[in-house]
Amino acid sequence: MDTEPVTDAGTSMERIDRLCTRVYLGLREHQLAPQDVVELACELLDWGHSWEAVREVVERDPAQVPASEMADLARRILEKTGFDPGFDLAPERLAVLRQALRVVARDLPTAGIDGEPRLVLLEEFTPVSAGIELSDGRLLVGDGGLHACAGDTPAGAVTAVADLIQDDLMKQTWQVWPVCSDHRLGLHAATHQGAAVWWCAGGDEHAAALIGELAYHRRSVH
Ligand SMILES: [Zn+2]
Repeated sequence: MDTEPVTDAGTSMERIDRLCTRVYLGLREHQLAPQDVVELACELLDWGHSWEAVREVVERDPAQVPASEMADLARRILEKTGFDPGFDLAPERLAVLRQALRVVARDLPTAGIDGEPRLVLLEEFTPVSAGIELSDGRLLVGDGGLHACAGDTPAGAVTAVADLIQDDLMKQTWQVWPVCSDHRLGLHAATHQGAAVWWCAGGDEHAAALIGELAYHRRSVH
């Protein structure tokens, strides 16, 4: 039957995904079951993924592998598979994005936008992403919304939120915002030396302001 390999592949992928979830939660809750890592490694090996960490898990006796080493191997395997816990398994990412939105919102009055924007889950996307609803009801989703991994680091979250808002506002209003007061160029959200900044390509390139401090910066330079 033509459909058989596809069904097998689907089942195998689902099994890998389920095992990845178990291993991820095990790592997260400090209750990693070595057997789950071994099962995942065997499944991946069957699937043709003979990554170094996979081979090591399969070849060693799990009883002889210290817990910290097993955890490290598990992390390396998860990274290789590209497993993403999304918002479901890592809900703290939502909190990070909400906090990031509060920071970016401080800059919005300079674009003529008042009121508190809020983060909304976009369940129609797989995996589920996040969009931003302005207080006037306008929904900004950019290119498929913010992926859950945007909430992995605070500075990265601020940059991602600012980028989405700026991009969507530009498309809606055709106005360049924000603008560098020195070079009269449109600024872009960027992470520079660990901080989320509005970046200017003018001159020798520079950070025009920290994201969230645009209004303060403008007042201070004029
Ligand atoms: Zn500039």
